[in-house]
Amino acid sequence: MNVQVKRPRIGILAIQGDYAAHAEALAESGATPVEVRKREELAGLDGLILPGGESTTILKFLERGHLFDDLKQFCSTRPVFGTCAGAILLAREVRNPSQRSLGVLDIVVERNAYGRQIDSSILFSDSKLPGEKLEMVFIRAPRIVETGPEVEVLARREEMATLVRQGSLMAATFHPELTTDRRVHKAFVDLVNSSLQH
Ligand code: GLN
Repeated sequence: MNVQVKRPRIGILAIQGDYAAHAEALAESGATPVEVRKREELAGLDGLILPGGESTTILKFLERGHLFDDLKQFCSTRPVFGTCAGAILLAREVRNPSQRSLGVLDIVVERNAYGRQIDSSILFSDSKLPGEKLEMVFIRAPRIVETGPEVEVLARREEMATLVRQGSLMAATFHPELTTDRRVHKAFVDLVNSSLQH
């Protein structure tokens, strides 16, 4: 007998940055991706990805489109995954320079902490995800310099956390959508599916 598994609908904030690659990664990880540009489009989503890009630009768009408060509210009710600039938006505190954020994830981040674009790098590291080492693509990445007590660290670069989870929120300082390894997106889709069962 064929068991029909319902695919969760996961939004991707599609303002700027690499949202198309996230959509592909989500589709390959068992979810239905939905591009989000307006506050009304958050309704009915089971989860959301805040992609990489330039956090200052994304922030301006959120403020202009009156999305900031809706997004903050969404983070308290549904799973959200922020990658790179998205992780900066979720953070409790942003440094270098200081900037407004949703403040929902108990981490402190320092922007552009590993140098300029030209110094962007790819590393393989052990992680808490099952399987081989995790490929991490860093592009003008932020560094997580503090994690609160509720934050679980799933991967690191040297001593610094690069992939974290706190309840139904996840953040990565690298770009999992730019590799062919789907374990990080699958972990987020699992989080969304388990939140739907409760
Ligand atoms: N440097 C960007 C910022 O500070 C983040 C880079 C990225 O998302 N790849 O917003």
